[in-house]
Amino acid sequence: MNNLIFAEQNARIIPLEDKIFGISRLAKERAKEKGHEAVINASLGSLLDDDGHLVILSSVVNAVKSLAAVDYADYAPIGGTPEFKKAIQSAAFRAFHPNSHTEVIATPGGTGALRNTISNYSKLGDTVLTTDWHWAPYNTIAQEIGRKIETFTLFDEAGKFNVASLDQKVKALAQTQERLILLLNTPAHNPTGHTMTPEEWDLTLHSVKEVAAAGKKVTILVDAAYIDFAGDAAESRQFLPKLDDLPESILVVVAYSLSKTFTLYGMRCGAAIAMTKSKAIADEFKRVCEFSSRGSWSNCTRPAMTVLANVYADPVLLAQVDREREVYRNMLRSRGRAFEDAARQAGLPIVPYDAGFFASIPCATADVVSEKLQKDDIFLVPFAKGLRVTVAAISEEKCKAIPEKVLQAMQ
Ligand code: PLP
Repeated sequence: MNNLIFAEQNARIIPLEDKIFGISRLAKERAKEKGHEAVINASLGSLLDDDGHLVILSSVVNAVKSLAAVDYADYAPIGGTPEFKKAIQSAAFRAFHPNSHTEVIATPGGTGALRNTISNYSKLGDTVLTTDWHWAPYNTIAQEIGRKIETFTLFDEAGKFNVASLDQKVKALAQTQERLILLLNTPAHNPTGHTMTPEEWDLTLHSVKEVAAAGKKVTILVDAAYIDFAGDAAESRQFLPKLDDLPESILVVVAYSLSKTFTLYGMRCGAAIAMTKSKAIADEFKRVCEFSSRGSWSNCTRPAMTVLANVYADPVLLAQVDREREVYRNMLRSRGRAFEDAARQAGLPIVPYDAGFFASIPCATADVVSEKLQKDDIFLVPFAKGLRVTVAAISEEKCKAIPEKVLQAMQ
């Protein structure tokens, strides 16, 4: 598809409008016409209250308001302030203390961490492996920097983690590339809500270790954007120790984001956190990622870094933030369960759901069904394999109403 007049295509497929933001815009226009209550806008991945307002952690807002002028005005170091680097490891890892060498690079959201990791740990033209159900911007990021995305089938026929598909794709790519990036969005995967179990991690690591032992350089890129909405802090970080004792030929990078966890979507802050057995590889991670940052967005927003550092320097404030977030995590859990129950009652098959902002419905004609639903004032995002329901954006009542309507639209 070459639809550009003056700009250069550079092998990218560039739609007229981002699909998710496009559907959200239509939903907002409909809500203006008919009122918020009449419309189900389960499109955009932001946590909203039952009235459709963005959930904002007031404890974080207070921390933002108490910043000094210099915190807004001054540049931050390219890799992030030292206080931020320390605080973000605490935020991402909580009670887990890695034995590995770690290094942190501040990035504009989790997105920046994904971009920097892919650009530095794959070659131009390489293929990155991820799940068939995945967040569409993975394709955008890959295309933008001359990489491709290949997928394995996340669930088998019985709805179980499809390790055979993972293993086959890992090995096939290792035949044609010197290095491999395996991109896994867990816990609370977007768009299915899946959280990889400890057993699923073991099987994945087994497969990856085989190709690493055969001489390939492997990067496991964990997109942890929803880690703080998966379960309690310890539960959702159970997998981390498994990534702490890997051979030198496997680098782990955790892409962590302040967008959802601290309701700082607009501040554009996150980090890439590397874990490796080798000090030299950790040092190199810092050097190459700082170079990439300098050549793309330069440095990141200092106010967001200072807020995070201040929250982690003050146990009382941290406890407030955690308590506040827990209330919303519980709200999210109730919405997810309400959707699951209603789907079961209606006889609508859904993709196995564990936690998080999204749930999905398998559907071979997702584009058509999504358009039909819009006529009923329901706005869901069509993916290649089905429809995504953002339970984070709608009330429990609306979660309950969706399955029956989807079944009708499918028929
Ligand atoms: N990864 C996934 C799967 C996401 O859904 C998002 C945000 O929607 C991100 C990463 C990163 O978001 P941000 O760049 O705002 O941190």
